Amino acid sequence: MESRKLLLISLSLVFLLAFSQAAMALPISSGGETKALSASDKLLGVERIDFIHYAKGKDNAAGKGAKAAPCYKLMGYSWKTRPINYSINTSNPQGLSQSFIVSAISTSAETWDASTSAELFNNSYSIDPSATYGVRDGKNSIAFGPYSNNGVIAIASIWFSNKTKQIVEFDQLYNTYFQWGDATANPALMDLQNIATHELGHAVGLNDIYTQQCSAVTMYGYSSEGEISKRTLEQADITGLRSMYGT
Ligand SMILES: [Zn+2]
Repeated sequence: MESRKLLLISLSLVFLLAFSQAAMALPISSGGETKALSASDKLLGVERIDFIHYAKGKDNAAGKGAKAAPCYKLMGYSWKTRPINYSINTSNPQGLSQSFIVSAISTSAETWDASTSAELFNNSYSIDPSATYGVRDGKNSIAFGPYSNNGVIAIASIWFSNKTKQIVEFDQLYNTYFQWGDATANPALMDLQNIATHELGHAVGLNDIYTQQCSAVTMYGYSSEGEISKRTLEQADITGLRSMYGT
């Protein structure tokens, strides 16, 4: 009797643990792409982190773990090999033109470049219809596609070495649940340049900021349609960037 009771208790504990871990797990990518790491990645201790950019009001984590200023946060990993090449897959179900997409994204990359002496992003990106989000393939891929959670605007995945503290790859997915475009022309749209500037901030090593008093910075973790304030960097974004790559 006693041992049966004990068994029941430990069984329910196991279920409780399993359930709470499932509930805590972040939704990771749409592609089911999680592959075994290569031998060289194992040697480098390569790990992946996903930054999920939520629409305002779709998540109640705002301010959670918030600290006082500064309004920037470093991942603790950065690029040592530069400039960073990136590949844009412009295919999308919304009729966005190739020229609009590459202009919005390269302008976003140049916004970070212009605020530090380092040449961060290569001025000549690739337009690559095979660039795929979420695959550790040595390609820094930027792509559009549907994502399971409609409150998620975009995801930036970063692969980094916990041995060398270097970022070794990034990928980005822009959720086509949202209607993308130029919000200065139509504020009902999710502004591509606005969100791309935020996501490229992750690509260079900046973390999200959720403190309400920091809501003006580019690395603030929430956005909504019509927002364009993240297109330009605030002083905190620049301070964070320069601490990694110089003035
Ligand atoms: Zn973010």
